Amino acid sequence: MNRQDKKCDCEDTQRHFLNRAFGRLELDDAQRDLLLSPFRETLISIPLKVRRNGIEVLRTFTGFRVQHNHARGPFKGGLRYHPASNLREIRALAQLMTWKTALVNIPYGGAKGGITVDPGELHRDELEVLTKRFAQKMGPLLGVHQDIVAPDVGTNPQVMAWILEEYSKAHGYTPGIVTGKPLELGGSEGRLEATGHGVATITRQAAVDHGIRLEGARIVIQGFGNVGSHLAQRLAELGATIIALSDARGGVLSEQGIDVGAARAHVREHGWLEDLPGTEFVSNAELLELPCDILIPAALESVIDCDNAERIKAPLIVEAANMPVTHQADDILRERGRTVVPDVLANAGGVLASYYEWVQNLQEFPWERDTVFYRLEERLLRVYGEVRRHAEARGVDLRTAAYELAIRRVADAISLRGF
Ligand code: NAD
Repeated sequence: MNRQDKKCDCEDTQRHFLNRAFGRLELDDAQRDLLLSPFRETLISIPLKVRRNGIEVLRTFTGFRVQHNHARGPFKGGLRYHPASNLREIRALAQLMTWKTALVNIPYGGAKGGITVDPGELHRDELEVLTKRFAQKMGPLLGVHQDIVAPDVGTNPQVMAWILEEYSKAHGYTPGIVTGKPLELGGSEGRLEATGHGVATITRQAAVDHGIRLEGARIVIQGFGNVGSHLAQRLAELGATIIALSDARGGVLSEQGIDVGAARAHVREHGWLEDLPGTEFVSNAELLELPCDILIPAALESVIDCDNAERIKAPLIVEAANMPVTHQADDILRERGRTVVPDVLANAGGVLASYYEWVQNLQEFPWERDTVFYRLEERLLRVYGEVRRHAEARGVDLRTAAYELAIRRVADAISLRGF
């Protein structure tokens, strides 16, 4: 199965997970249809002159914003820059945001955006123009109480700063239009590390529940970007042994444990983990199948599928990435007694910290870093406990329990508002 096929799996996977949860909720067909239907899908063309070998050529990029549901508050979701991004993927990720914001009970709906582009191929000034044109064309859909953008794969605080600037040209200085922005422009202390930190918090608790001592636990992480690198750092601080890490080029393995600080410094200097001293090469496919206590996919979706699910050795899998496990793989893992902590719960620290940033922007009152992390950990552990208790009470897996809780909240908001 090539990556494009796998990406198409996202929508099927999402539908399968939802149907599992729908079966237990008393919803009629009309309610289900409404819950599944995106409120609005916008697709735009963005022409851009780019320099190739000193020659200027015109290219046209495709941009998306899918606003799935806003029953509980403004649309909220990341912006992804990736060459394989497409509407099906963005649609599935937008819907996932609706369940995630509902699960952690923050006053948002769900959305996702993207541009089909490899940001590494563009010069910085070209990326700036592309981003500002996207923000200009999507501008009428955005708003502090309408739709708030955040970083995702291939985007970062600088990209958020460009969106802020373009939006502010028309509306006056509006830091709350994006989250995950630089501190200098109203960003929040801790937002950059928040998703990884939150995954580490959930991992620590899930490990305890599985009788795994985090101190000395052998952990494998796929993806060493914003989420993966901060996650590895935090888990190492908590005493775990990170035996393998990877990025798009491949992985590095050390049975003795990888020095995460050295790995981050190596990536800063060379751009990739490749040739990290004291490690041996391992492919991304091999990495997922390594014997370890906890496996954490933190890169892209559908990396654990029906082809490799039988060979996953980790007893505990924590989804730091969005939708890294296909629905077929999820079934296989469950039958094999593996526990999957689902994305909707595991990586919710990102949107939670985004919410805290937005609140600080609305209040025009920045919080201390300790306040952000205290609130983040407290809320995530509370939600984790709620999902775990619901799963035990209903005799279902963590994902189904999380979806049941989230869908119920969205369905109730829809009926109260009379959509
Ligand atoms: P990023 O762009 O910062 O990093 C992505 C990492 O994955 C990089 O190390 C990249 O080299 C690696 N990668 C890319 N293609 C790969 C491949 N084929 N095999 C292995 N590794 C590959 O992105 P990020 O922000 O760290 O996001 C990672 C995941 O976490 C995504 O699924 C994203 O949707 C999810 N997520 C991110 C946030 C956030 O706050 N950034 C919040 C919630 C969920």
